[in-house]
Amino acid sequence: MAKKILEVTYEFLVKMSLFTSINDDIESYDENSTVNKTMERHISTLKDKDIESILKKIENNLDLNVENKSRREQGILRRYLFRDKRIGKCGICQKEFPINFLVTAHIKKRSECQLEEKIDFRNIVMPMCKFGCDDLFEKGYISVVDGIVVSMKHKNRTPSIDEIISNIEGKKCPYWNKTSKKYFEWHYKFHLSNNI
Ligand SMILES: [Zn+2]
Repeated sequence: MAKKILEVTYEFLVKMSLFTSINDDIESYDENSTVNKTMERHISTLKDKDIESILKKIENNLDLNVENKSRREQGILRRYLFRDKRIGKCGICQKEFPINFLVTAHIKKRSECQLEEKIDFRNIVMPMCKFGCDDLFEKGYISVVDGIVVSMKHKNRTPSIDEIISNIEGKKCPYWNKTSKKYFEWHYKFHLSNNI
């Protein structure tokens, strides 16, 4: 890809946010504006190498604070996970939802990631639904061990939480593989020691 397009895409991401919030709220994003349409087209043709270099550039931009970096990253990572799809599948419960009900979740907490882990986008993120899976995973109520969703010990469990978890426990997570494994292992260990 020509360097120029990469730079233009990057500038676009830095100046404007593709999404209004870190939680993937796309409601106020004007998908019909000409600039956005052109950029969407550029972004959807980005190769893996280009995504990596944009993520690196965002991360190294000293003018952006943590929240802004994360928001820009989300714009690119969502494109990687969903491309131009309208419907996607949650990596935990395996149910299908319109993509604005899915978040681009980091398997290893973003704030704990080194630069090389942040740009390892093929392995560090996966889609999770807003109907519980994202929160349960982020708060350590569930994890993934050897590719299977497992229930975790947690001091704030209630019968309702137990019921929700019983419906997803044992599901196979298609995002678990030999290269993403280390991030799931980090998640499991981190919450295992935090939940005691
Ligand atoms: Zn789900």
